[in-house]
Amino acid sequence: MSLSNVKHQSRAQDMLQRAYAKDRLPHAYIFHGPDGVGKETLARGISQLLLCDSPIESENENSDDKTAPPVHSGCGNCESCRLVLAETHPDIHSVYRQLARQHPKPEVRKRTARDIGVDVIRHFLVDKVHLTPSRGKAKIFLVREADRITRQAQNALLKTLEEPPGTTYIILLTASIDRLLPTTQSRCQLVEFNALPTPFVREKLGTLYQQLTPQDLDWYAKNASGSIGGAIEAIQRDRLPIAERVIDTLSNLSERKLAALVKEWLNTSESATGTLRKEDPDITDAEAKRIGLKIIFRIAAAYYADALRIKTGQSDDLINTAHQAKLHTLANALNHDEIIDRINRIARAENQLDRNIHAQLCVETLLGDLTCGVPA
Ligand SMILES: [Zn+2]
Repeated sequence: MSLSNVKHQSRAQDMLQRAYAKDRLPHAYIFHGPDGVGKETLARGISQLLLCDSPIESENENSDDKTAPPVHSGCGNCESCRLVLAETHPDIHSVYRQLARQHPKPEVRKRTARDIGVDVIRHFLVDKVHLTPSRGKAKIFLVREADRITRQAQNALLKTLEEPPGTTYIILLTASIDRLLPTTQSRCQLVEFNALPTPFVREKLGTLYQQLTPQDLDWYAKNASGSIGGAIEAIQRDRLPIAERVIDTLSNLSERKLAALVKEWLNTSESATGTLRKEDPDITDAEAKRIGLKIIFRIAAAYYADALRIKTGQSDDLINTAHQAKLHTLANALNHDEIIDRINRIARAENQLDRNIHAQLCVETLLGDLTCGVPA
């Protein structure tokens, strides 16, 4: 997990390396960008560097910038590095919503841990920043899903973000920076992470999942929107068969079958999140349903985007290469604007889910819209 292993995030990497080289590393950060692109890996790499007994310097091979600074990283061999790599270093404190279950107050332990509340922020972060580091060099707090820190908890954190003790570093990790208060954002150094290039995601998946066919690996890589974490989750949740069901529905749209198709999408959404509720008991049924439907909506949007690619002569970039015949039929049946209209309607339906519109109603409206103009 050396720092030079973080690929395609040279902007973030260079920014941190330059500050480190000048000994002017800020003490509070927001690492923001899509999930699964290396934010936590880079945060752990920086933590290793800060805690290492004898950091090393190497040439920056990954940066596109010719003037990029050399990469400083942990040596990987000292006791501190070994503890960081084993994720057992006593001076790296991960803060996450499920910590509520380890809170000393029984009433906090009993609550569902959907957000990072003020009790968790106070007990596991604010109250700990002034303690001397266990091994002497620094103390690092990594806050996962920082966009889930409640407003009250963010307010409780402001003073700490503004003036952390000299040996303390706080890194907030988030895929939705806009959900953090402006007052929180203004007290932190913002470090932006990019989506990863699809060929890089494809290459990684190829080494991790040799049992999958090249065609399936292509599909997972192209569907991941530049997130290795997202692609791995999709593979682990077996999302390709889900996509097959969604595409099957889309190629069978008709007024007459509408009620059955709505039911089919609601059932497919259940399958898409089947194990999620077990793995994360703090997620409510409504939230699980929303996550499931979003997965379906994105598959549908990608399907129509493929039809648009055919229309605009970009067939080489198709995501759903296994469905060329269906896609050509769709591309022939609809004109350019009609396809864009359908993609927009899907995006609108996804926004409605975020505004807590009833899931079934949302699916009924969307499938009704998509069916419009299809012969009965
Ligand atoms: Zn070391």
